[in-house]
Amino acid sequence: MSNYTMDCRIGCGACCIAPSISSALPGMANGKPAGVRCLHLTRDNRCKLFGKPERPDVCNKLQPSEDMCGRSAQEAFIRLASLERATTPSR
Ligand code: SF4
Ligand code: SF4
Repeated sequence: MSNYTMDCRIGCGACCIAPSISSALPGMANGKPAGVRCLHLTRDNRCKLFGKPERPDVCNKLQPSEDMCGRSAQEAFIRLASLERATTPSR
């Protein structure tokens, strides 16, 4: 599978819901658990903080890629959920 970078699919929002985010987000001091919508995701799955200084670094640095995003939001959810499982330390 290729991992070339691509443009974010506007209105996808999968990476703002599926993965856990461990760094603080404005209004979510402890980040967010996997599967929970970020507070800043609009109903049409856009980031309300896009382009604003308070948008977290972790979001600014995230590079959309075919490996992560797949070809649809549904594919992205599946890929992100499996990445989440692969990167969650077992207790
Ligand atoms: S999963 Fe990829 S396409 Fe979807 S919102 Fe995130 S970066 Fe954009
Ligand atoms: S701040 Fe924006 S880009 Fe970051 S997780 Fe929330 S909605 Fe997504």
